[in-house]
Amino acid sequence: MAQRKLSAPRIFDGTRFHENSALIVAEDGTIEALVPAPEAGDAERFEGILTPGFINAHCHLELSHMKGQIPEHTGLVDFVLLVISGRSEREATMPEAIAAAAEEMRRNGIVAVGDISNTTDTVSQKKLGHMRYYNFVEVLGWAPAGADASYRRSVEVLKGFEGCGPAALVPHASYTVSDPLWQLLQPHFGGHTISVHNQETPDEDEFIRNGSGAFVELYQKLGVDNRHHAGKGMSSLRSYFNKLHNAERRLLVHNTFLPEEDLAYALQTAGDSTFFCLCINANLYIENKVPSVEILRRHGAAIVIGTDSLASNWQLGVHEEIRSLRKHFPQVPLEEILGWATLNGAKALQMEDTLGSFEKGKTPGVVLLDPETLEVRRLA
Ligand SMILES: [Zn+2]
Repeated sequence: MAQRKLSAPRIFDGTRFHENSALIVAEDGTIEALVPAPEAGDAERFEGILTPGFINAHCHLELSHMKGQIPEHTGLVDFVLLVISGRSEREATMPEAIAAAAEEMRRNGIVAVGDISNTTDTVSQKKLGHMRYYNFVEVLGWAPAGADASYRRSVEVLKGFEGCGPAALVPHASYTVSDPLWQLLQPHFGGHTISVHNQETPDEDEFIRNGSGAFVELYQKLGVDNRHHAGKGMSSLRSYFNKLHNAERRLLVHNTFLPEEDLAYALQTAGDSTFFCLCINANLYIENKVPSVEILRRHGAAIVIGTDSLASNWQLGVHEEIRSLRKHFPQVPLEEILGWATLNGAKALQMEDTLGSFEKGKTPGVVLLDPETLEVRRLA
């Protein structure tokens, strides 16, 4: 089979940089070898960093038509209300918006997406096979009486994702899933990566711990029965983390207000199979806050990167998330952040057998990254 030899001043292999090296890639994108440049002989020479394709660990592709619809810095509660009222507007433009967003991700060097789906709106796009998806079919239902109906509806949505890659039923968040609904979901977790929106706003812990705060008002406005909830006397993370015990991997998304003691608890309980997803641009968009990067690093937590949706981001690009992380956390080495964007993300989605690093036999994609401008170009 024909092959390409690619060289650049630095090659990031998924874990670390190699200098003066060349990547040998088969025509179909399979990695054959990473060798010292002189061994490769004649190679195509690029300026910048060669990196495996990026993993976008958290997205909501089905909200792509909401780009620019919600103002910045509303805070999470108003954001949620605006998504609920706005998500079915302009329904006619949905398929085009989904296709354009998927193409934007592909162009930006993204090879796999952990995608939250409340509906089957993205199924036809996913079946085209342009990218890999882990389909997180998201379940919500705070009123205990509605647990059965929420569950049955989600099981139907899940069936629609056959042929789109792995798919799992996942809880939206601690404050939107009632105990009876958790009980229905838990038997489905085995073998899967289970994603949860975690501690995205201070209101979340306030509501779960004390039964008070902005979410009480949110449920009043939505007419959702909240009489069963008087507060659980513990943080959001502690209220649900053990319920994920049979999941193969856990993906906690946002962590903008993750307390250090909760992180320590999660790591102690299931540290080797729990991933913490940063969506810094969405946090800046919604809450104008940055996530707890230094706490996560200090504890050696496995970090991954997500874009969230076009309802809460200006674009879908992992390199744009890296740009914001570099701006707000300049002390974090680029090498470390690239690991979050590639191999860690692949592990979170259980795709590390084929994606995330330049190991022989994998097909991770090849992206050229300019270390100064952080612009990207897809090479394979
Ligand atoms: Zn999200």
